[in-house]
Amino acid sequence: MEKKIEEKRCVLCNKPYSYKYSMFGRVCLDNMYSLLRISKSPRFIWNKELYLCTRIAWRNHKLFLNRNQKYNLTQKYIALSYLNKMECNFLDDIKEQIKNDINNISIFSKNVIETISFSLNDIYKLYNYWQKFNDLIANFQNINWKELDEKLAKEFIEKLSFIFDETKMSNPILYRAFYWMQYQFWQIIVIGGLLADMKLSARLLNNSLAPFRKEPDDLIIDDEETINSITESKIFKEKIHEILNNYGKEGKINSQDYENTDIKVIKFEDADLLLALHKATILINGIKNEDNTWNLDIEINDTYDFTEFKSLKEYVDEKEKILMDIFATTLNNLGVASSKYGVIKIFDVKLIFHLDSYKVDEMKVII
Ligand SMILES: [Zn+2]
Repeated sequence: MEKKIEEKRCVLCNKPYSYKYSMFGRVCLDNMYSLLRISKSPRFIWNKELYLCTRIAWRNHKLFLNRNQKYNLTQKYIALSYLNKMECNFLDDIKEQIKNDINNISIFSKNVIETISFSLNDIYKLYNYWQKFNDLIANFQNINWKELDEKLAKEFIEKLSFIFDETKMSNPILYRAFYWMQYQFWQIIVIGGLLADMKLSARLLNNSLAPFRKEPDDLIIDDEETINSITESKIFKEKIHEILNNYGKEGKINSQDYENTDIKVIKFEDADLLLALHKATILINGIKNEDNTWNLDIEINDTYDFTEFKSLKEYVDEKEKILMDIFATTLNNLGVASSKYGVIKIFDVKLIFHLDSYKVDEMKVII
């Protein structure tokens, strides 16, 4: 006859073990002694697990707990120790909750309601993800994004794709930690790496990364460098020409006149401008001077949405195709996940500038 043995699983690593202890397998128990810097139990101690729990109770100034209370305290204390090893301020409120629950454990604590529940196995897995993430980020310095090898870049980014796992969103602890890792990913890999030479795209993506539970501010851009990069672009010049040709015949231009037509849509060729302002519309108001130049007030508006790169690569010129391909495929998918997490948010962006005595190129423009 087969004897059925109830399988015990380690509360930390979830591996089955057949040992006398109530919570941990032998290896994990040893690891907990070193994680918590508790010196090994004396030889005559028979139950090394209970000894660990008692030491943890003493450390927390709790002297008369029963066995279950000690086990409960131990799991919370270990979870807190792991979370303290992860430098992440998005987890601060969770740590406070666990500390609070630890404080509430006492010999009288039978009916105290816990403020946060978790499985130690989730915390343990999270800590492993955390270390994996930090190791990969440390390797990131060795990648030369300037001479981008598309295959390598994609491989590297795909190695990090585990931090975009949407199934983690339902757990408040995992949610915060994965949020934080994604936040770092966009800051370090994309803004500091892939977008290092693309100032406007970097600035807008940076603005869309709202810290935990914060909304991004709308952005007004009027600095000279950005405005120059726009006014010097061929697409911009063609667009001004097109609009003035259509609506400026009487020596003045009023954006009201063309507001509801496709003519106001502007799509740049420069990868930085296209990534930053891919759904932009342009409004122009102004008057023509006697010397045929124009004084123009210009407004370019867009709603920044990082997840809309799929169709963009066809617009850019050849040398930036590789970068755009990464944005349109790999990063687009990750951006969708980060939007669900709330790491990447949508906001309105407005560029405002004035052009005095602007000469409209009289050459025939092919559009
Ligand atoms: Zn274990």
